[in-house]
Amino acid sequence: MNAHSLYIETYGCQMNVNDSQRIVAMLSDDRYQLVNSPVEADLILLNTCSVRGGAEEKVYNRLSNLCSLKKINKQLVIGVGGCVAQQEGEQLLERFPLVDLVFGTHTVHLLPGMLQDARHGIRRSETEFFDTEQRRDLFPATRGEGRGSQFVTVMQGCNNFCSYCIVPFVRGREVSRRAEDILEEIERLVAAGVVEVVLLGQNVNSYGIHQDGQPSFAQLLRQIAALDGLQRIRFTTSHPKDMSDELIACYADLPKLCSQVQLPAQAGSNAVLARMNRGYTREHYLDRINALKQARPGITITGDIIVGFPGETEADFEETMSLVEEVRYADVYSFAYSPRPGTRAADFTEELSKHEKQHRLARLIATQRNITLEINRSFLHTRQEILVEGIGKHPGQLSGRADSGKTVNFSGEPALIGHLVPVVITAAYQNSLVGELI
Ligand code: SF4
Repeated sequence: MNAHSLYIETYGCQMNVNDSQRIVAMLSDDRYQLVNSPVEADLILLNTCSVRGGAEEKVYNRLSNLCSLKKINKQLVIGVGGCVAQQEGEQLLERFPLVDLVFGTHTVHLLPGMLQDARHGIRRSETEFFDTEQRRDLFPATRGEGRGSQFVTVMQGCNNFCSYCIVPFVRGREVSRRAEDILEEIERLVAAGVVEVVLLGQNVNSYGIHQDGQPSFAQLLRQIAALDGLQRIRFTTSHPKDMSDELIACYADLPKLCSQVQLPAQAGSNAVLARMNRGYTREHYLDRINALKQARPGITITGDIIVGFPGETEADFEETMSLVEEVRYADVYSFAYSPRPGTRAADFTEELSKHEKQHRLARLIATQRNITLEINRSFLHTRQEILVEGIGKHPGQLSGRADSGKTVNFSGEPALIGHLVPVVITAAYQNSLVGELI
């Protein structure tokens, strides 16, 4: 059997990155080798994201370009997966006659069979949702390969239905993976040389709460931390309403848990939080932040903010600004609100003008940039353990991540990639730190 070449483009969150890694591993069994350019490929896959407005248009434009490659390579197979595929399904096949297959967020495992059909001219769209028990067997798992840091999916889906968000519609309800499967996967990864795992899920901190017999997320963290050889644990994303005292206590008790947490606030005004259906108040959010800071002094906190949600007044926005200053985020992923068709907020009428949204967003970004730089400078002259992730942007440089999640660049040999090394921080910039190997 001849080898095939696979080109895959991944958009959106780490869940999609993890799905793409799983696809590459799964298709390597069918002798697909990864290539860096669509022109070299005989299979092109787009793993799409629909969280931001205009996502479908971007996918359509990209597909139009890629389909033109079929004029040069008649054997080329083109597939679309991820959240846009989940939403659009058959319509993608109708709109793009040169697309061969469409797979959803629950049907990645069907890909090998769909590819075989595609090679015989059978075009398929598979976007059904699987029920809870079936899905527990379908969780993406790595092959126990790799070194350095690896993603490990612990749960998928979301039950929260924030009024602006499409995720519950394209990823389905929350399902937690069996704890024994997670522990077994991490043991295999550690045996292969992995020193850090990043636990993934749309709401990792609601892990286990809908399934009898599963540990809570805090209990799972303690079981993972007890595994010999594993040195670091991170997780993302957390929901403020599920950030329990039990979970916060892990930051006090588990040195392997990195000093970093991502806790999206989305807004600082209770009126806006209620319209967003976030399920917590500003006071609750700040209480959780303060508890985290007490449990792990110096913890870096990153957040997500949506600016210009429908009906957001100037006073509401000022509350968001004051929240940002009070929390002192290490970084904030901030966006101007844009409606997602199919969500409740898409029907909200008090939409702000584009100009007003951009003006508020620019103010928020400017404030946060100052805070980020101050925090980055606080690392100057400190010693940090860096997990080396790869080659840096400049010749002879390596790039890695500190316990805080900060990116650190320093001179060193590529043989250090995948290892933890001590570095002293010598310069601090807006987006990264520079250090020297000790
Ligand atoms: S918690 Fe809200 S924002 Fe996050 S995935 Fe669920 S619905 Fe979307």
